[in-house]
Amino acid sequence: MGCTALVLAVTGTTPAQAGQRAGAERQVLPAGDGWAAYGAGTTGGAAADRSHVYTVTTWEQFKAALADGGSAPKIIRVRGTIDADGPSCDSFAVPGYDFGAYLAKYAPESWGRTTTLDGEPADSPEGLRRASAANQDAYIKAEVPANTTVIGVGKDAGFNGASLQIKGVDNVIVRNLRFESPLDCFPQWDPTDTADGNWNSEYDSAVVYGSTHVWMDHDTFTDGDHPDSTLPYYFGRIYEQHDGELDIVKGADYVTASWNAFEDHDKTILVGNSDSAATAAVDRGHLKVTFHHNLFRNLVERAPRVRFGQVDSYNNHFVAGDGYSYSYGIGMESQLVAEHNAFTLPAGAKAGSILKKWKEAPVTAADNYVNGRRTDLIAVHNAEVPGETLQSGAGWTPALRTRVDPARAVPGLVGHRAGAGRLG
Ligand code: CA
Ligand code: CA
Repeated sequence: MGCTALVLAVTGTTPAQAGQRAGAERQVLPAGDGWAAYGAGTTGGAAADRSHVYTVTTWEQFKAALADGGSAPKIIRVRGTIDADGPSCDSFAVPGYDFGAYLAKYAPESWGRTTTLDGEPADSPEGLRRASAANQDAYIKAEVPANTTVIGVGKDAGFNGASLQIKGVDNVIVRNLRFESPLDCFPQWDPTDTADGNWNSEYDSAVVYGSTHVWMDHDTFTDGDHPDSTLPYYFGRIYEQHDGELDIVKGADYVTASWNAFEDHDKTILVGNSDSAATAAVDRGHLKVTFHHNLFRNLVERAPRVRFGQVDSYNNHFVAGDGYSYSYGIGMESQLVAEHNAFTLPAGAKAGSILKKWKEAPVTAADNYVNGRRTDLIAVHNAEVPGETLQSGAGWTPALRTRVDPARAVPGLVGHRAGAGRLG
């Protein structure tokens, strides 16, 4: 381990060589640019000294760089696409784990649909699944310390199958990286989740968990080569191996997501992950997030689904595809402001579906355009979805915006500039 760190630490930085605007790795969030600019703002590792600037090309090097130097400011430059998913799913399986035995034991015809598998012992198929899942968990998760900038070099940097954990820390910047969603090798069968049961998966591409001052900028999140359409079915249910693209949970606060592309995925972004009393106690008064100039393309739902937080979503372009369900989920005690956004819906998709009411919570929606026409999202929702009346007026006015573009200009701007590989 010491050897690896030594190799990493001697890597110098010459931004000009990267073909990237000089100094991108030391850029900080501009003043006033969304909720992450609140208070002390977000500087990531901009103040790193030369011994805390790393260039990495493998998952092992990346994890070693994260672990080196504690919370001293650091910059980690990612070169090329790094495989974070290990050699194979089999490499994580513990001795004795057998998916065929799992399917045989928990088939609804024999196991039924009323008992979860949580009480199953360690030597059961579920116990062996749990142990195998723990191996994958330890491998694909990487914990980002405070005062860190992780930035892709050039136009083709990113991770396949990584799960970035921004957990319990302050001041993190993640830029110019393409994240291909992790695939859970060991989804768990829950016979009690819906009347038909469900396969549930772990691992978001990135999760902001109880952290503050986080800037996610010019990143791409996608299922890439592994869309849900390629996944098999067992017990009549899709064998879901994906979780979220970017989840913001457990009292996280002051997050700005700008100029990202969220693509080709089902459940995309949670802001708050539960209505439970314990979660409410942690989330209430937090979960303040700004989304601006992002592309949300070919997603099913949650762009985002909001609980508790004051979320400002402006100047984003939403492009719906087949299987579109909704864009904004209005959840418990949320105060969403959605303004100056553009929506491109295919024939047959209804503008009333853009908002989805989960709980009684107010929302501000103004100056949004659907297929080029200015549209009152709340009025069209209330007209098209009987029994789900949304109330207008989120009760706060976003102040942290640097530049608001005309909604009609947003598809062109975002189309040319959002996502990884476009930092300039
Ligand atoms: Ca691999
Ligand atoms: Ca998640």
